[in-house]
Amino acid sequence: MRINASGLTISAPLRIPQREIEAILQRKADWIIEKLDAWENSSSNHLEWRLHAVYWLLGEPYQLIALSAQLQLVPQNSIKPDMVRPCSAESSSTQFSAQQLEHFVLAWYQQQATACMTDRLAFYAEKLGVGMPVFHLSNARSRWGSCNASGVIRLNWRLIQLPLALIDYVIAHELAHLFEMNHSRAFWEVVAKIYPEYRRAQRELKQIGKLMI
Ligand SMILES: [Zn+2]
Repeated sequence: MRINASGLTISAPLRIPQREIEAILQRKADWIIEKLDAWENSSSNHLEWRLHAVYWLLGEPYQLIALSAQLQLVPQNSIKPDMVRPCSAESSSTQFSAQQLEHFVLAWYQQQATACMTDRLAFYAEKLGVGMPVFHLSNARSRWGSCNASGVIRLNWRLIQLPLALIDYVIAHELAHLFEMNHSRAFWEVVAKIYPEYRRAQRELKQIGKLMI
């Protein structure tokens, strides 16, 4: 029994009867479900790079289109049918490789993330009465944000796909680490001072988050 990027594979010698294989699967069911869950979580976040695909920004859907040979990300509710019909406003002679699309979308995300997060960090830093911290975007696979001992804050660019309330929570959380480098009661008191609804945000982030990181 093996789980890799393409899922679960079961191999057995031909002479083993089907019902015996089924019995083994049943005995191993818990293990299989656990592994498949982990597999699903690790593979579900991969963004797809194609024209007309939907990309989320601040919890809103945007669609990738090409108008007059220019790539654009447009709010989905402002798209008119002729904008995404083949051989219309989109010139059929324009071909974009998946790599070009990826480059365009990631650059857009980074730009949006930098602008939004700089703004929100400044807002919450002022609420806390601290100066604007040094901030970098991160590409971590396993965490939304971090704050190191020198007070440098890293925020995952993928956060920009989520509603602002969740981005704000991560920012408030990391800023609170400037005072408490742990998750003690004192730490959560600092968080609550600038972001009182933190428990709800934590729950939502846990639910949405495992689909994205
Ligand atoms: Zn923390």
